[in-house]
Amino acid sequence: MLEKVLIANRGEIALRILRACKELGIKTVAVHSTADRELMHLALADESVCIGPALATNSYLHIPAIIAAAEVTGATAIHPGYGFLAENADFAEQVEKSGFAFVGPKADTIRLMGDKVSAKDAMIKSGVPVVPGSDGPLPENEQEALRIAREVGYPVIIKAAGGGGGRGMRVVHKEEDLIKSAKLTRTEAGAAFGNPMVYLEKFLGNPRHVEVQVLSDGQGNAIHLYDRDCSLQRRHQKVLEEAPAPYIDEKARAEVLQRCVDACIEIGYRGAGTFEFLYEDGRFYFIEMNTRVQVEHPVTEMVTGVDIVKEMLSIAAGNKLSIKQEDVVIRGHSLECRINAEDPEKFLPSPGKVKHFHAPGGNGVRVDSHLYSGYSVPPNYDSLIGKLITYGATREEAMARMRNALDEIVVDGIKTNIPLHRDLVRDEGFCKGGVNIHYLEKKLGMDKH
Ligand code: ADP
Repeated sequence: MLEKVLIANRGEIALRILRACKELGIKTVAVHSTADRELMHLALADESVCIGPALATNSYLHIPAIIAAAEVTGATAIHPGYGFLAENADFAEQVEKSGFAFVGPKADTIRLMGDKVSAKDAMIKSGVPVVPGSDGPLPENEQEALRIAREVGYPVIIKAAGGGGGRGMRVVHKEEDLIKSAKLTRTEAGAAFGNPMVYLEKFLGNPRHVEVQVLSDGQGNAIHLYDRDCSLQRRHQKVLEEAPAPYIDEKARAEVLQRCVDACIEIGYRGAGTFEFLYEDGRFYFIEMNTRVQVEHPVTEMVTGVDIVKEMLSIAAGNKLSIKQEDVVIRGHSLECRINAEDPEKFLPSPGKVKHFHAPGGNGVRVDSHLYSGYSVPPNYDSLIGKLITYGATREEAMARMRNALDEIVVDGIKTNIPLHRDLVRDEGFCKGGVNIHYLEKKLGMDKH
């Protein structure tokens, strides 16, 4: 097993990784910015190092500072968590070149999958079904671009090859808007992701977001941990997730799960990963792969009993997968509410001091959060302050437990989206299951499509 892991992240995921390391008897190094001295996991880590000021570009995104912290503390591996440097191929490369194990895929794999155009290409080669589109970058030649869009059929969506986090996408309904929208998205993509390349896809009318969790050891063994439904989204960002995805055609599911496993073996994938799909009319269409642990990984852990983070650490230590496909069995159902420090109506961030925090409990309730009474949520980072996860023998039981848990949880002093979640778990359509990606925005009265 790994000896000492540096956790190159903050908040709930840093705490999640720390807990897994402690279970495995691995020593831990926490790193933090000057704005994050109060983070809970710093008190629990064996060592902690301040890596820079509040501004993430000078701390959590500052590669030399993180590598230096690993060197001075004698860490042997680095876990990037999600966000920040988790999908930065140059970081993965420098970590390994400096002699540390990177808890994640090889740099080349991150590079291949980080460019959504090359990722789609690789998936087509592995037989994974993709959303019909430009098959490569959208050409700058206007006539060519117009021809492709006409062939695909409107509405289309223009997406940044280097995009992520729900940004760098623009829906085009009419031919006369295509060129202008492509130019705008290119300019924005260049500024935001340092890569102006865009591609075009058919904009699916009422798909669901269904994704497949995989684990692969990079030594020829890969398994899937079934699927999750993350259709409840606002501005292309997930709000509430569940596993397994309800009402999926069994034949299509079995086929796509197998394709994902095959693709992992094909590309020599190492670590935990997620294949994201849109699911419409009984068919799956690949949109992208995330080469890291995801925020919503706990729902899969609840229904499979597999500890994804521990398995990631084991794979990074050079071990083969400890689980065989036939041992992965889905039992029951799990839901996750992302708790954000934000105004529940205007969705503006709401940092500040948490006067009182009370975590819910009971059978089938899990809270992954770094909150405690007196903790101040800094204004500098993502607004996710915790995840409330429930498990039940059935979807209904998981839902009833979530209603209870949301009634019990107390976060005083700052605004959160808990009222929105309380509303969602009582929403008729969502309770029935199988709603599409526009459902939440329609409910909130903000759907433009
Ligand atoms: P990101 O990397 O920014 O998360 P994705 O490619 O995963 O971008 O897309 C995020 C979300 O955007 C999807 O979950 C879906 O809601 C919407 N989306 C992306 N592509 C399409 C498409 N072709 N048709 C309809 N919606 C789409």
